[in-house]
Amino acid sequence: MNKPSQATDIVFTKKFINHIYIWKGDSQMKVGFIGLGIMGRPMAKNVMKAGHELTVFDFNKSAVEELAGLGAYGATNGKEVAERSEVVITMLPNSPHVKSALFSENGIAEGLSAGKTVIDMSSISPVASREFSGELEKMGVDFLDAPVSGGEPGAIAGTIAVMVGGKKEVFDKYYDLMMTMASSVTYVGEVGAGNITKLANQIIVAVNIAALSEAFTLAKKAGVDPNLVFEAIKGGLAGSTVMNQKAPKILSRDFNPGFRIELHIKDLQNALDTSHSIHSTLPLTSQVMEMMQALKIDGNEKDDHSALAKFYEKINNITID
Ligand code: NAD
Repeated sequence: MNKPSQATDIVFTKKFINHIYIWKGDSQMKVGFIGLGIMGRPMAKNVMKAGHELTVFDFNKSAVEELAGLGAYGATNGKEVAERSEVVITMLPNSPHVKSALFSENGIAEGLSAGKTVIDMSSISPVASREFSGELEKMGVDFLDAPVSGGEPGAIAGTIAVMVGGKKEVFDKYYDLMMTMASSVTYVGEVGAGNITKLANQIIVAVNIAALSEAFTLAKKAGVDPNLVFEAIKGGLAGSTVMNQKAPKILSRDFNPGFRIELHIKDLQNALDTSHSIHSTLPLTSQVMEMMQALKIDGNEKDDHSALAKFYEKINNITID
Protein backbone atom coordinates (compact mmCIF):
# COMPACT_ATOMS: atom_id res chain seq x y z
CA MET A 1 0.00 0.00 0.00
CA ASN A 2 1.25 3.50 -0.85
CA LYS A 3 1.98 5.62 2.18
CA PRO A 4 0.31 9.09 1.74
CA SER A 5 2.86 11.87 1.27
CA GLN A 6 3.18 14.70 3.80
CA ALA A 7 1.52 17.04 1.23
CA THR A 8 -1.49 14.72 1.02
CA ASP A 9 -1.71 14.72 4.82
CA ILE A 10 -1.75 18.52 4.91
CA VAL A 11 -4.52 18.76 2.26
CA PHE A 12 -6.59 16.22 4.14
CA THR A 13 -6.12 18.07 7.45
CA LYS A 14 -7.17 21.37 5.88
CA LYS A 15 -10.29 19.75 4.38
CA PHE A 16 -11.08 18.32 7.79
CA ILE A 17 -10.60 21.71 9.50
CA ASN A 18 -12.81 23.39 6.84
CA HIS A 19 -15.45 20.79 7.45
CA ILE A 20 -15.39 21.52 11.21
CA TYR A 21 -15.48 25.27 10.54
CA ILE A 22 -18.56 24.94 8.29
CA TRP A 23 -20.25 22.76 10.89
CA LYS A 24 -19.49 25.32 13.64
CA GLY A 25 -20.73 28.11 11.36
CA ASP A 26 -24.18 26.56 11.18
CA SER A 27 -24.69 27.08 14.92
CA GLN A 28 -22.75 30.35 15.28
CA MET A 29 -24.46 32.86 17.59
CA LYS A 30 -24.00 36.55 18.32
CA VAL A 31 -22.94 36.35 21.98
CA GLY A 32 -22.40 39.21 24.44
CA PHE A 33 -20.11 38.73 27.46
CA ILE A 34 -19.98 41.15 30.42
CA GLY A 35 -17.56 40.62 33.33
CA LEU A 36 -14.03 39.67 32.22
CA GLY A 37 -12.44 38.90 35.61
CA ILE A 38 -10.65 35.78 36.89
CA MET A 39 -13.45 33.56 35.56
CA GLY A 40 -15.12 35.59 32.81
CA ARG A 41 -12.00 36.28 30.75
CA PRO A 42 -11.08 32.63 30.06
CA MET A 43 -14.77 31.67 29.71
CA ALA A 44 -15.27 34.37 27.05
CA LYS A 45 -12.16 33.13 25.22
CA ASN A 46 -13.62 29.61 25.09
CA VAL A 47 -16.91 30.92 23.64
CA MET A 48 -14.94 32.70 20.92
CA LYS A 49 -12.71 29.67 20.24
CA ALA A 50 -15.89 27.68 19.50
CA GLY A 51 -16.60 30.05 16.60
CA HIS A 52 -19.24 32.38 18.07
CA GLU A 53 -19.26 36.12 17.29
CA LEU A 54 -18.42 37.84 20.57
CA THR A 55 -19.06 41.36 21.91
CA VAL A 56 -17.53 42.11 25.33
CA PHE A 57 -17.64 44.76 28.06
CA ASP A 58 -16.01 45.26 31.47
CA PHE A 59 -15.16 48.37 33.51
CA ASN A 60 -11.58 47.10 33.24
CA LYS A 61 -10.44 48.44 29.84
CA SER A 62 -7.34 46.23 29.61
CA ALA A 63 -9.52 43.10 29.84
CA VAL A 64 -11.72 44.41 26.99
CA GLU A 65 -8.61 45.22 24.92
CA GLU A 66 -7.20 41.73 25.47
CA LEU A 67 -10.38 40.11 24.13
CA ALA A 68 -10.61 42.65 21.28
CA GLY A 69 -7.04 41.68 20.34
CA LEU A 70 -8.27 38.10 19.91
CA GLY A 71 -11.14 39.11 17.59
CA ALA A 72 -14.00 40.14 19.88
CA TYR A 73 -15.80 43.49 19.47
CA GLY A 74 -15.04 45.71 22.49
CA ALA A 75 -18.21 47.62 23.44
CA THR A 76 -18.38 50.78 25.55
CA ASN A 77 -21.33 49.74 27.72
CA GLY A 78 -23.86 46.97 28.39
CA LYS A 79 -26.50 48.55 26.13
CA GLU A 80 -24.22 48.25 23.12
CA VAL A 81 -23.40 44.63 24.02
CA ALA A 82 -27.11 43.75 24.15
CA GLU A 83 -27.90 45.59 20.89
CA ARG A 84 -25.25 43.54 19.04
CA SER A 85 -26.13 40.16 20.61
CA GLU A 86 -28.94 37.61 20.66
CA VAL A 87 -27.76 36.25 24.03
CA VAL A 88 -25.85 38.13 26.76
CA ILE A 89 -23.76 36.26 29.34
CA THR A 90 -22.87 38.01 32.63
CA MET A 91 -20.07 36.89 34.99
CA LEU A 92 -20.00 39.46 37.83
CA PRO A 93 -19.23 39.35 41.57
CA ASN A 94 -22.67 39.52 43.26
CA SER A 95 -26.35 40.47 42.99
CA PRO A 96 -25.88 44.30 43.15
CA HIS A 97 -23.33 44.15 40.31
CA VAL A 98 -25.69 42.11 38.12
CA LYS A 99 -28.58 44.46 38.95
CA SER A 100 -26.50 47.49 38.02
CA ALA A 101 -25.17 45.86 34.81
CA LEU A 102 -28.73 44.99 33.75
CA PHE A 103 -30.79 48.01 34.77
CA SER A 104 -28.55 51.08 35.20
CA GLU A 105 -28.33 53.84 32.56
CA ASN A 106 -26.80 52.45 29.33
CA GLY A 107 -27.13 49.00 30.90
CA ILE A 108 -27.97 45.69 29.22
CA ALA A 109 -31.77 46.07 29.48
CA GLU A 110 -31.71 49.21 27.31
CA GLY A 111 -30.27 47.21 24.41
CA LEU A 112 -32.47 44.13 24.79
CA SER A 113 -35.63 43.35 22.82
CA ALA A 114 -38.21 40.54 22.80
CA GLY A 115 -36.77 37.14 21.89
CA LYS A 116 -33.29 37.81 23.32
CA THR A 117 -31.84 35.96 26.34
CA VAL A 118 -29.68 36.80 29.37
CA ILE A 119 -27.61 34.00 30.94
CA ASP A 120 -26.24 35.10 34.32
CA MET A 121 -23.33 32.82 35.26
CA SER A 122 -22.37 34.82 38.40
CA SER A 123 -22.94 33.27 41.86
CA ILE A 124 -25.67 35.49 43.29
CA SER A 125 -28.73 35.32 45.54
CA PRO A 126 -31.49 33.10 44.07
CA VAL A 127 -34.03 35.70 45.25
CA ALA A 128 -32.27 38.31 43.09
CA SER A 129 -32.20 35.90 40.11
CA ARG A 130 -35.99 35.54 40.30
CA GLU A 131 -36.41 39.32 40.59
CA PHE A 132 -34.24 39.96 37.49
CA SER A 133 -36.00 37.21 35.55
CA GLY A 134 -39.41 38.74 36.37
CA GLU A 135 -38.32 42.19 35.16
CA LEU A 136 -36.87 40.83 31.90
CA GLU A 137 -39.94 38.66 31.26
CA LYS A 138 -42.02 41.87 31.01
CA MET A 139 -39.85 42.76 27.97
CA GLY A 140 -40.20 39.28 26.40
CA VAL A 141 -36.59 38.47 27.34
CA ASP A 142 -35.67 34.98 28.67
CA PHE A 143 -33.35 34.49 31.66
CA LEU A 144 -31.26 31.58 32.93
CA ASP A 145 -29.34 31.57 36.23
CA ALA A 146 -26.31 29.43 35.48
CA PRO A 147 -23.58 29.69 38.16
CA VAL A 148 -20.46 27.60 37.83
CA SER A 149 -18.03 25.52 39.84
CA GLY A 150 -14.46 24.56 38.98
CA GLY A 151 -12.46 27.71 39.63
CA GLU A 152 -9.97 29.51 37.40
CA PRO A 153 -8.23 26.29 36.23
CA GLY A 154 -11.61 24.91 35.10
CA ALA A 155 -12.49 28.19 33.38
CA ILE A 156 -9.20 28.14 31.44
CA ALA A 157 -9.49 24.46 30.50
CA GLY A 158 -13.18 24.77 29.59
CA THR A 159 -14.10 22.14 32.18
CA ILE A 160 -16.31 24.06 34.63
CA ALA A 161 -19.56 22.52 35.90
CA VAL A 162 -22.64 24.67 35.17
CA MET A 163 -25.89 24.37 37.17
CA VAL A 164 -28.82 25.96 35.38
CA GLY A 165 -32.25 27.26 36.41
CA GLY A 166 -34.91 28.58 34.02
CA LYS A 167 -37.32 27.39 31.34
CA LYS A 168 -36.30 23.97 30.03
CA GLU A 169 -36.74 25.00 26.38
CA VAL A 170 -34.39 28.00 26.92
CA PHE A 171 -31.87 25.66 28.61
CA ASP A 172 -32.07 23.31 25.59
CA LYS A 173 -31.56 26.21 23.17
CA TYR A 174 -28.33 27.37 24.87
CA TYR A 175 -26.97 24.01 26.06
CA ASP A 176 -24.33 23.83 23.30
CA LEU A 177 -23.26 27.43 23.93
CA MET A 178 -22.75 26.75 27.67
CA MET A 179 -20.88 23.51 26.83
CA THR A 180 -18.23 25.57 24.98
CA MET A 181 -17.06 26.60 28.49
CA ALA A 182 -17.80 23.44 30.45
CA SER A 183 -17.47 19.70 30.89
CA SER A 184 -20.99 19.45 32.36
CA VAL A 185 -24.13 21.60 32.09
CA THR A 186 -27.00 20.37 34.25
CA TYR A 187 -30.63 21.52 34.33
CA VAL A 188 -31.78 21.80 37.98
CA GLY A 189 -35.22 23.49 37.76
CA GLU A 190 -36.95 26.88 37.48
CA VAL A 191 -35.13 30.25 37.74
CA GLY A 192 -33.24 30.48 41.05
CA ALA A 193 -32.57 26.72 41.21
CA GLY A 194 -29.13 27.25 39.66
CA ASN A 195 -28.07 29.55 42.47
CA ILE A 196 -29.68 27.35 45.17
CA THR A 197 -27.52 24.50 43.81
CA LYS A 198 -24.42 26.72 43.85
CA LEU A 199 -25.11 27.74 47.49
CA ALA A 200 -25.37 24.04 48.40
CA ASN A 201 -21.98 23.53 46.71
CA GLN A 202 -20.45 26.46 48.61
CA ILE A 203 -21.74 25.18 51.99
CA ILE A 204 -20.16 21.78 51.35
CA VAL A 205 -16.82 23.30 50.27
CA ALA A 206 -16.64 25.75 53.23
CA VAL A 207 -17.50 23.16 55.89
CA ASN A 208 -15.08 20.68 54.29
CA ILE A 209 -12.14 23.11 54.45
CA ALA A 210 -12.97 23.96 58.08
CA ALA A 211 -13.13 20.23 58.97
CA LEU A 212 -9.81 19.65 57.20
CA SER A 213 -8.18 22.49 59.16
CA GLU A 214 -9.67 21.22 62.44
CA ALA A 215 -8.40 17.67 61.78
CA PHE A 216 -4.88 18.84 60.87
CA THR A 217 -4.83 20.96 64.04
CA LEU A 218 -5.60 17.89 66.16
CA ALA A 219 -2.85 15.90 64.43
CA LYS A 220 -0.29 18.69 64.85
CA LYS A 221 -1.09 19.23 68.55
CA ALA A 222 -0.92 15.46 69.14
CA GLY A 223 2.52 15.24 67.50
CA VAL A 224 1.46 13.39 64.32
CA ASP A 225 2.70 14.87 61.00
CA PRO A 226 -0.34 16.36 59.15
CA ASN A 227 1.38 15.52 55.81
CA LEU A 228 1.34 11.83 56.76
CA VAL A 229 -2.27 12.12 57.95
CA PHE A 230 -3.21 13.48 54.50
CA GLU A 231 -1.31 10.67 52.73
CA ALA A 232 -2.93 8.04 54.95
CA ILE A 233 -6.56 9.18 54.65
CA LYS A 234 -6.96 10.73 51.20
CA GLY A 235 -7.88 7.40 49.58
CA GLY A 236 -10.43 6.52 52.29
CA LEU A 237 -13.96 7.69 53.08
CA ALA A 238 -12.81 11.14 54.25
CA GLY A 239 -11.03 11.79 50.95
CA SER A 240 -12.59 14.36 48.60
CA THR A 241 -11.86 16.75 45.73
CA VAL A 242 -11.77 19.54 48.31
CA MET A 243 -9.18 17.62 50.36
CA ASN A 244 -7.03 16.89 47.29
CA GLN A 245 -7.03 20.54 46.17
CA LYS A 246 -6.87 22.33 49.53
CA ALA A 247 -4.75 20.08 51.82
CA PRO A 248 -1.57 20.70 49.75
CA LYS A 249 -2.21 24.47 49.97
CA ILE A 250 -2.70 24.32 53.75
CA LEU A 251 0.34 22.08 54.26
CA SER A 252 2.60 24.33 52.18
CA ARG A 253 0.99 27.54 53.58
CA ASP A 254 0.22 28.72 50.01
CA PHE A 255 -2.82 30.93 50.49
CA ASN A 256 -2.73 32.64 47.05
CA PRO A 257 -6.22 32.61 45.50
CA GLY A 258 -7.89 30.53 43.88
CA PHE A 259 -11.14 31.50 45.46
CA ARG A 260 -10.95 34.51 47.76
CA ILE A 261 -12.35 34.46 51.30
CA GLU A 262 -14.30 37.68 50.53
CA LEU A 263 -16.17 35.88 47.72
CA HIS A 264 -16.90 32.89 49.96
CA ILE A 265 -18.25 35.25 52.65
CA LYS A 266 -20.58 36.65 49.94
CA ASP A 267 -21.78 33.11 49.11
CA LEU A 268 -22.33 32.11 52.75
CA GLN A 269 -24.22 35.38 53.36
CA ASN A 270 -26.46 34.55 50.38
CA ALA A 271 -26.93 31.02 51.78
CA LEU A 272 -27.89 32.32 55.25
CA ASP A 273 -30.23 35.01 53.86
CA THR A 274 -31.94 32.51 51.57
CA SER A 275 -32.22 29.96 54.39
CA HIS A 276 -33.77 32.50 56.79
CA SER A 277 -36.23 33.68 54.14
CA ILE A 278 -37.60 30.13 53.80
CA HIS A 279 -37.54 29.40 57.58
CA SER A 280 -34.66 26.95 57.53
CA THR A 281 -31.47 26.99 59.63
CA LEU A 282 -27.83 26.33 58.69
CA PRO A 283 -25.85 25.87 61.94
CA LEU A 284 -22.59 24.69 60.37
CA THR A 285 -22.65 27.40 57.71
CA SER A 286 -23.06 30.13 60.34
CA GLN A 287 -20.08 28.74 62.32
CA VAL A 288 -17.78 28.77 59.27
CA MET A 289 -19.12 32.22 58.33
CA GLU A 290 -17.93 33.55 61.73
CA MET A 291 -14.48 31.98 61.16
CA MET A 292 -14.27 33.76 57.79
CA GLN A 293 -15.39 37.04 59.38
CA ALA A 294 -12.59 36.69 61.96
CA LEU A 295 -10.09 36.14 59.13
CA LYS A 296 -11.42 39.24 57.36
CA ILE A 297 -10.95 41.31 60.55
CA ASP A 298 -7.32 40.13 60.55
CA GLY A 299 -6.93 41.38 56.93
CA ASN A 300 -6.97 37.96 55.23
CA GLU A 301 -10.04 38.45 52.99
CA LYS A 302 -7.97 38.36 49.76
CA ASP A 303 -6.45 34.98 50.71
CA ASP A 304 -7.66 31.69 49.25
CA HIS A 305 -10.44 30.09 51.32
CA SER A 306 -7.92 27.39 52.37
CA ALA A 307 -6.68 30.12 54.76
CA LEU A 308 -9.47 28.93 57.09
CA ALA A 309 -6.48 26.99 58.49
CA LYS A 310 -5.10 30.31 59.78
CA PHE A 311 -8.15 30.68 62.05
CA TYR A 312 -7.34 27.32 63.70
CA GLU A 313 -3.64 28.15 63.88
CA LYS A 314 -4.37 31.38 65.70
CA ILE A 315 -6.75 29.98 68.34
CA ASN A 316 -4.46 26.97 68.94
CA ASN A 317 -1.17 28.89 68.77
CA ILE A 318 0.38 26.52 66.20
CA THR A 319 1.26 26.40 62.51
CA ILE A 320 0.03 23.43 60.46
CA ASP A 321 3.01 22.50 58.28
P1 NAD B 1 -13.61 39.02 39.55
O1 NAD B 1 -13.76 40.00 40.64
O2 NAD B 1 -12.26 38.52 39.17
O3 NAD B 1 -14.28 39.60 38.18
C1 NAD B 1 -15.48 40.37 38.14
C2 NAD B 1 -15.39 41.32 36.94
O4 NAD B 1 -16.64 42.02 36.82
C3 NAD B 1 -14.32 42.39 37.09
O5 NAD B 1 -13.48 42.38 35.96
C4 NAD B 1 -15.11 43.72 37.20
O6 NAD B 1 -14.45 44.82 36.61
C5 NAD B 1 -16.36 43.37 36.43
N1 NAD B 1 -17.56 44.15 36.75
C6 NAD B 1 -18.12 44.39 37.95
N2 NAD B 1 -19.27 45.07 37.82
C7 NAD B 1 -19.42 45.31 36.48
C8 NAD B 1 -20.42 45.97 35.70
N3 NAD B 1 -21.52 46.51 36.25
N4 NAD B 1 -20.26 46.02 34.35
C9 NAD B 1 -19.16 45.46 33.77
N5 NAD B 1 -18.20 44.79 34.46
C10 NAD B 1 -18.33 44.74 35.80
O7 NAD B 1 -14.58 37.79 39.95
P2 NAD B 1 -14.48 36.26 39.49
O8 NAD B 1 -13.54 35.52 40.36
O9 NAD B 1 -14.32 36.20 37.99
O10 NAD B 1 -15.95 35.76 39.90
C11 NAD B 1 -17.10 36.10 39.15
C12 NAD B 1 -18.27 35.29 39.72
O11 NAD B 1 -17.96 33.88 39.59
C13 NAD B 1 -18.53 35.54 41.22
O12 NAD B 1 -19.91 35.50 41.46
C14 NAD B 1 -17.83 34.35 41.89
O13 NAD B 1 -18.41 34.03 43.16
C15 NAD B 1 -18.05 33.25 40.86
N6 NAD B 1 -17.07 32.15 40.88
C16 NAD B 1 -15.74 32.41 41.06
C17 NAD B 1 -14.84 31.34 41.09
C18 NAD B 1 -13.35 31.57 41.30
O14 NAD B 1 -12.64 30.60 41.57
N7 NAD B 1 -12.87 32.81 41.19
C19 NAD B 1 -15.30 30.02 40.92
C20 NAD B 1 -16.64 29.80 40.70
C21 NAD B 1 -17.53 30.88 40.68
